[in-house]
Amino acid sequence: MKRRAIYPGSFDPITNGHLDVVERALRLFDEVVVAVAVNIRKDPLFSVKERREMLQRAVGHLPRVTVDSFETLLMDYAQEKKAVAVVRGLRAVSDFEFEFQMALMNRNLAPQVETVFLMPKDNYVYLSSRMIKEIVRLGGSAKGFVPPYVETALQRRLGKGGRR
Ligand code: ADP
Repeated sequence: MKRRAIYPGSFDPITNGHLDVVERALRLFDEVVVAVAVNIRKDPLFSVKERREMLQRAVGHLPRVTVDSFETLLMDYAQEKKAVAVVRGLRAVSDFEFEFQMALMNRNLAPQVETVFLMPKDNYVYLSSRMIKEIVRLGGSAKGFVPPYVETALQRRLGKGGRR
């Protein structure tokens, strides 16, 4: 049976750090589903459709990766997808406490689904979607940290003349 993993997140927008995690996950699993978590409590910059489109462009060349989104409890979604694992990225220590708590809670909800943490390449350790948005909002460039079309979308929305 194919070993499938879910990589959930906001991906608002996708960064090269996320992509690094997807590529690492592909070494461990037969299939990786990158899934946009539709969370009404967050106020995303990009719509789910826009985020999915950017993700699709970013992983289109990777044959064992698909893009999806979900609105339910992650563990319900993981079981529905018959996934054996949930993949999360671990950057600095600051990610640890929250991720640890969530992994243990998720284990209670679905004991057969493992949470696997992957560390990105060192130059992506301090990279987050939030920081990238802040840089562009303040007039900087996200080049080298996000795919080129994501940089374009960010500049359009947040750069000079952008609307937010
Ligand atoms: P969330 O809102 O779930 O934190 P994100 O889109 O910010 O969603 O991140 C999704 C997952 O990717 C999380 O596990 C996060 O820790 C991980 N991640 C984000 N940026 C990086 C990065 N630069 N390197 C490694 N993992 C990352």
